[in-house]
Amino acid sequence: MEKIKSKGYAMFSKEGPFKPYEFERHAVGDNDILIKIMYAGICHSDIHQARSEWNEKEHYPMVPGHEIVGQVTQIGRNVTKFKVGDYAGVGCMVNACKDPNCDTCHGNREQECPDAVFTYASHDKFHGGEITQGGYSNNIVISEDFAIQVPKTADMEKVAPLLCAGITTYSPIQFSRIREGDKVAVAGFGGLGHMAVQYLVKLGADVSVFDVSEEKREAAMKMGAREFVDVSKDTEFFKKHLNKFHFILSTIPAKYDMSAYLRMLEFGGEFAIVGLPATQNLPSISLHSFVFTPNRKIYGSMIGGIKETQEMLDYSVKNKIYPQVKIIKGAPDEVAKQITEAYNTIVDGKVQFRFVIDMRDL
Ligand SMILES: [Zn+2]
Ligand SMILES: [Zn+2]
Repeated sequence: MEKIKSKGYAMFSKEGPFKPYEFERHAVGDNDILIKIMYAGICHSDIHQARSEWNEKEHYPMVPGHEIVGQVTQIGRNVTKFKVGDYAGVGCMVNACKDPNCDTCHGNREQECPDAVFTYASHDKFHGGEITQGGYSNNIVISEDFAIQVPKTADMEKVAPLLCAGITTYSPIQFSRIREGDKVAVAGFGGLGHMAVQYLVKLGADVSVFDVSEEKREAAMKMGAREFVDVSKDTEFFKKHLNKFHFILSTIPAKYDMSAYLRMLEFGGEFAIVGLPATQNLPSISLHSFVFTPNRKIYGSMIGGIKETQEMLDYSVKNKIYPQVKIIKGAPDEVAKQITEAYNTIVDGKVQFRFVIDMRDL
């Protein structure tokens, strides 16, 4: 079978910058679809991985990108979920074992499968150990089971970030069973945070937002938050909110004081962590904080399974819940430069809220 030729944008070392890059993908198998990528979002995780900040094995050249939407241009002969011309999305994973005896696959939590293959910089044992390449490119080959159906009524320019930022925040909100009237907080108001606020407001929760950039206050209030707390100005911010929240979702991608957030939870309240700072910059929390702020629960959450991702996408499109995006487009050299710059803007917390790369002309 013919390998698929691809063009994309890669980092060749952890220092960067991005440059146009040509490579090959595995052939379209019987259960696979080929997607011509239209848009790819830039996630903060892309930056951590492209810069080797998570102590993972380095794979360069690396084409990041796990927020992907495009159009199906070819299907394998066993494919039933997609037709040529349909719109499809790809998120953070492209394969898992799918063995009925695998608890995580069977339980629709493929992201936890020991054999899960992530969308880029991941060892693909199902394709001879090739290293996957992500969505900052013009096409991708994926098993139909791991592709998400995107209704043609979706706003294509904005839909891609739902595949990571959307599901990453939607999933813990479901897991913690947030309901109308619950007092909740979102810590970190960036790409993930601004999705979380929209889902929580839609559910009728009473939402407070904590962030370090005063410039984001207006957007938070417009999205329906009750209050915006600029924690850069007031390190004692937690004192005004002691024991107040039923649920706090932390999307913070840098070091922060976790015990301050724990103290804002009510008895039995839940603190869900989705933001993953660089390894050298991890927040920590002492056992004392747990014991002296008793009976509060902390858990981490990692994207969501394929079934839940499809649910999230359908829910978001139906309710018109989308990220606010800034489109990167132009000639390939220009786009490569803009991606490199976008990374710095995101790390500085200055983007409102998601960069999306237009791949249609690549
Ligand atoms: Zn992501
Ligand atoms: Zn499995």
